[in-house]
Amino acid sequence: MPHRRPSQYSSSEVSHQHPEISGVRTTNTVVVGNGPAALCLSYLLHGNIPFYDPVTHGPHPDPVLHKKLSKTLGKPLFYALDTPQQSERLTDHFPASNLSYSTQALPLNALLDTLQRPNADTELGEVKGRLRWEKWPQKSVEHMVLGSAPDAGGQWTEDPVSTNWDIGTLSYSEMFSLPGYTFPEHYRRLHKKLPPELVRPTRRDVSSYYAAYPRAVGIASAVYSNVYVKRISRNQGGFTVQVQRRKTGEIFVVLCRHLVLASGIFSYTIPPPPIFLPLLQRPKMQRSHTDGSSGGHNTVLVIGSGFTAADVILSTPPNKRIIHIYKWNPDRPSPLKGCHPQAYPEYAEIYRRMKLGTLGTSTQNPRSPHTEHPGSAPVMRDWETTYQGFPNAQVIAVSGDGKIKLLTIDEEVIEREITELKYCVGRRGSLGYLSTDLRKEVGALDVAWVSADTLRRRVETGVEVVPGVFVIGSLTGDSLVRYVAGACTYAAGKILKESEDRKALAAQHAGAAATATGKSPGSETPGSCVIS
Ligand SMILES: Cc1cc2nc3c(=O)[nH]c(=O)nc-3n(C[C@H](O)[C@H](O)[C@H](O)COP(=O)(O)OP(=O)(O)OC[C@H]3O[C@@H](n4cnc5c(N)ncnc54)[C@H](O)[C@@H]3O)c2cc1C
Repeated sequence: MPHRRPSQYSSSEVSHQHPEISGVRTTNTVVVGNGPAALCLSYLLHGNIPFYDPVTHGPHPDPVLHKKLSKTLGKPLFYALDTPQQSERLTDHFPASNLSYSTQALPLNALLDTLQRPNADTELGEVKGRLRWEKWPQKSVEHMVLGSAPDAGGQWTEDPVSTNWDIGTLSYSEMFSLPGYTFPEHYRRLHKKLPPELVRPTRRDVSSYYAAYPRAVGIASAVYSNVYVKRISRNQGGFTVQVQRRKTGEIFVVLCRHLVLASGIFSYTIPPPPIFLPLLQRPKMQRSHTDGSSGGHNTVLVIGSGFTAADVILSTPPNKRIIHIYKWNPDRPSPLKGCHPQAYPEYAEIYRRMKLGTLGTSTQNPRSPHTEHPGSAPVMRDWETTYQGFPNAQVIAVSGDGKIKLLTIDEEVIEREITELKYCVGRRGSLGYLSTDLRKEVGALDVAWVSADTLRRRVETGVEVVPGVFVIGSLTGDSLVRYVAGACTYAAGKILKESEDRKALAAQHAGAAATATGKSPGSETPGSCVIS
């Protein structure tokens, strides 16, 4: 029976305690968000430099790509990605290639994906990455990763819709790996064995991996969790960032030269419409009394047709009844439709139930009495008696005692009594933390709802969307972790180069000043920025 347990194994062991910051501090780069993309960028900004490696496992299986990358062999990959045009030249053969490159992902993101995991979609066995990492500490750039999630890992450590932490993820385990410490390494630490091939790990294991990652690769001192970034505006030398600690409410200010937006597109759930207010405004006591699994009515109303709704259904104890309202449009099918019954049996089963609902047979002729959750014991649900699907139904009345009226597609009005509402019609990000001017600059006019499309056009022409502002992670429109490294590598290359140029200039000035005054040159903190 599914039940909720803490999301991680040993949160206190992995979270880093930072000395209190108060007042104002400066740093070279602020990264907003502490998800996988922010962690990947931090790894790079710590001076971990990627190189194309055609030696360890031989050249990349794409001979055209190998030829192109061979021109900058021995140089950091940043050289090959120096401008958007250069990265375009590296990838312009992808659409015609025999290798299966994603046609949806940004070519830059597909490039880093294939260098880390060549042929990942078609070959089993050991991942033979074609990147070599070298640690160049002198290249590191001072930065702060600031995220509201309670631990490193962003949305993987948050749970806005209360789902079961043991549900299998959509991606296979290797797709979660970031450079320097892979998911399989972490899995082996947790379970004393490597993950089986083609396993979909649990959300618990993935969140544990990202929470452990900063310590494992030595970036923990730059990662600040549990902090909200509130107001960012431009100043003369870069940006002013207001940060608030979630626990104490204390505010501090950070001045930085570069800003990286890594705040994702899944932080906020779309709230239920006002018709549900009578239900939502019920006193807490009453709700928790009737919501309990023993006694009373025990029916959850789930609204939504995607993975979040499906996860809620999978997380609902099998003795609870489910009323499921979902959109059904053959021209825009639910994303669950793409779930193969072998790879994703639990999602395929829910899709089947939804389809039966359109035939008016959702409660008849059940094929299987239970649903398997990868990574956990099967959950027994008697679909016949505990699930009712209502495609394209509308809720037309709701009262505070849990009684609702539904208008079905057959124009029938049905009354039901529910104890809980799970409204799962989508999640979005927000760029409300940018000043109005900055938001206008980056082209995000709607503050409240940021989706995969919001910054996509801008990012397609360059990850540095306006001078000094970079976009990485799911905000680029590529939401999967396997695609985070592309934009991160480009952004890191730019930031490291600018910082190096600045250091060289500062050294030159210091030398000139020393000659003029006869004093020895003073040293600026490496990588820190001077805010005028
Ligand atoms: C239910 C669900 C299942 C998914 N399953 C998979 C999967 O199986 N495989 C896969 O590859 N991807 C999956 N994804 C996609 C997911 O987006 C990526 O896995 C990944 O988390 C993206 O990383 P990110 O760093 O871009 O953003 P996120 O992980 O979203 O992290 C961004 C963080 O920034 C925080 N933030 C936002 N605003 C502020 C602010 N003002 N101040 C401070 N912090 C802020 C957010 O709260 C969030 O914690 C799934 C997404 C969802 C919603």
